[in-house]
Amino acid sequence: MLRVTDKMQDQQRKSVSILGATGSVGGSTADLLMANPDNFSVAALSGGRNVARLAELAHVLKPEFVAIADPNGYAELKSALSGTGIEVAAGDAAVCEAAARPSDWVMAAIVGCAGLLPTLTAVRRGATVALANKECLVSAGDIMMREVGASGATLLPVDSEHNAIFQVFEQHRRKSIDKIVLTASGGPFRDESLADMGRKTPEEAVAHPQWSMGAKISVDSATMMNKGLEVIEAAHLFDLDVDRIDVLVHPQSIIHSMVAYADGSVLAQLGMPDMRTPISYALAWPERMETSVRKLDLTEIANLSFFAPDMERFPALALARDALRSGGTQPAILNAANEIAVEAFLDKRLSFTGIAELVADALHAVNVGVPQTIDDVIALDLDVRGQARALVSHGRRTSTNGLASKSAIEIDAKRL
Ligand code: NAD
Ligand code: MG
Repeated sequence: MLRVTDKMQDQQRKSVSILGATGSVGGSTADLLMANPDNFSVAALSGGRNVARLAELAHVLKPEFVAIADPNGYAELKSALSGTGIEVAAGDAAVCEAAARPSDWVMAAIVGCAGLLPTLTAVRRGATVALANKECLVSAGDIMMREVGASGATLLPVDSEHNAIFQVFEQHRRKSIDKIVLTASGGPFRDESLADMGRKTPEEAVAHPQWSMGAKISVDSATMMNKGLEVIEAAHLFDLDVDRIDVLVHPQSIIHSMVAYADGSVLAQLGMPDMRTPISYALAWPERMETSVRKLDLTEIANLSFFAPDMERFPALALARDALRSGGTQPAILNAANEIAVEAFLDKRLSFTGIAELVADALHAVNVGVPQTIDDVIALDLDVRGQARALVSHGRRTSTNGLASKSAIEIDAKRL
């Protein structure tokens, strides 16, 4: 009798998987699941290399399958989960296996292009994919969106700006949409001079004023490359060209983004800066669910301010817009060079302003055509990463104003 009840309950539960469970978005997703244990069951979890955190999550969420990308973590994870009946595997293929395991809903929250194949795996089996991993749309947006169409998968934006737009974007009135406006906090260096930014440390860059996030996206927010990546992400998600995507600096991060209509109406989504709101929206979609996110009190906030972004002090934003406009190989090059530049900055091998300089150098490479397949994108990504790493280690910072006149990165057209 009890078994039947359990089974009936299970049928009503949404089964979910979290890719990147040990990260910031993964953790917020896990919080929501833990607060609603009757509504969800967990099929699979994946993590990069944090064995202790992955084991802790597995003990609480009781998934069927756990994957750790770093093979060196396998033995420790296996022993931490012994006796639980949870299947454990390691390596990149195991992370894709976590994405392939049957589940209704997948949180794609791996950081960087490392999330491309796992996210695509979930898309290809027609799952509902909650997308936080913006880099996979930057590197392979056309291919990803084609695959979503072909498989019938549902892609739900989790990035707070895109989630906000999704909430107020009247799909049936597309023709009446003038533009979308992505808001940006401006990051921790919003009011700093370029000269001062050149001396910023990783510790200062990851101390974001409004959002608590992983290291890579925190640095991206400080350079405003994050907003550039988000412009490209929005172009793919909402099928808009670059000229219809505006960026507005809004330091309080209360308005998460807006859609402007032909009749003069502007619809916005507001809330406290807490990723549990957009994640919960994707988790409960097409319904909404209760969360413990602090309720918005506008009398307490009192003032909302807005500024145009400064493209001189934040060149990364302009680079991303240009890459989107040029298309072809440029967005994938932008993303790969940025990932390497951020990694080098976090390791104190590159200055803060050197990040955008390195990306600019990489983008001087000749645009050799449009990557057609996911293998093309992966080969291009690896190639650019290797060359960008070499540029960092050879200290090829060109001139005092940074930008090289000719790229040291070359792309082999035969690859595409
Ligand atoms: P994070 O660094 O906190 O977590 C990243 C996760 O990816 C971890 O679980 C890590 O173990 C895993 N990972 C890293 N490298 C991997 C690899 N090679 N193979 C498999 N797994 C790997 O990052 P985050 O802040 O949670 O961000 C995740 C994604 O969500 C990013 O694309 C980011 O841009 C996006 N995003 C984050 C936020 C936020 O508030 N943190 C908001 C919007 C969008
Ligand atoms: Mg965002």
